Amino acid sequence: MRSLDKVFVALLVSFSLAACEGGETPNPTDSPDEQPGDPASPSPLPQPEEPDPMPEEEFLSDPEGRVFSYVPAGDLLPNSGPGHEDTTIYRPDILFPLEDAAFLNSQVYRYGGSQGYVNGMEGGQCNEANYDYPWQDTFCESRSRSQIMCPDGGHEGVDIRPATCIPETGADHWAVAVEDGRIVGLADSKYTVKLQTADGTLYRYMHMKMDALAVEDGEYVTKGQRLGRVFNDFFNSAGERVATTYHLHFEMYQNYAPDEETDPVFDQVSPYMTLVNAYERKLRGE
Ligand SMILES: [Zn+2]
Repeated sequence: MRSLDKVFVALLVSFSLAACEGGETPNPTDSPDEQPGDPASPSPLPQPEEPDPMPEEEFLSDPEGRVFSYVPAGDLLPNSGPGHEDTTIYRPDILFPLEDAAFLNSQVYRYGGSQGYVNGMEGGQCNEANYDYPWQDTFCESRSRSQIMCPDGGHEGVDIRPATCIPETGADHWAVAVEDGRIVGLADSKYTVKLQTADGTLYRYMHMKMDALAVEDGEYVTKGQRLGRVFNDFFNSAGERVATTYHLHFEMYQNYAPDEETDPVFDQVSPYMTLVNAYERKLRGE
């Protein structure tokens, strides 16, 4: 079982004031040439004044009052693949891609997924546990497809459930443009909407209700503009419609280099922490 200490609550941790008081705290201003135990050592310098106390915490809540939390990047459900620990916030200014609250978690290895039994999560996709925090990363979850970040095969994006389970509620949950950009390649896509920005960054939104999109191929869109409704559109390799779970699969292509010596490549990178960052700003009302 995952221990709770691995779940990050969106929290501005103020340093414990208690830890800054009393005589046991090493004084960081001690100079190295002082001999320990030297009776001539001056008494420790006074501690700096306590800063103005920060807010005790900043639990970020969604409109339903649920406190947002997330499992660290790369920490996937057990038995669901290697994951990819990438804490990079590739785009710190994007809008979260859904208008409402949302839940990042596995569509395959949880309730309603074909492999849910692996972790004892048997049952339908509307199980309420699927519609709650913490978020969990699904980048490089096991798949037969390979890409540079998941060389042995892996999921090249993250999956986002909307605020409510659509087969139960019938609600519309809108996906929106995360940045200004242009809709590209729509004519060639059965279940993917691609948004490209002026600097080339590409976002792919999958499984929306494709016969009722709010945008057209080639259209320029502005940040926050509605693109379409989260749905379950999917087609198999034979071109037959096969429904997936109701969710938005979200990908982001960005220049990436694992180190300074390696030329960057333009490929799918993990959007997980970029989305955590965007969602926290959303919940703060920024
Ligand atoms: Zn997916």
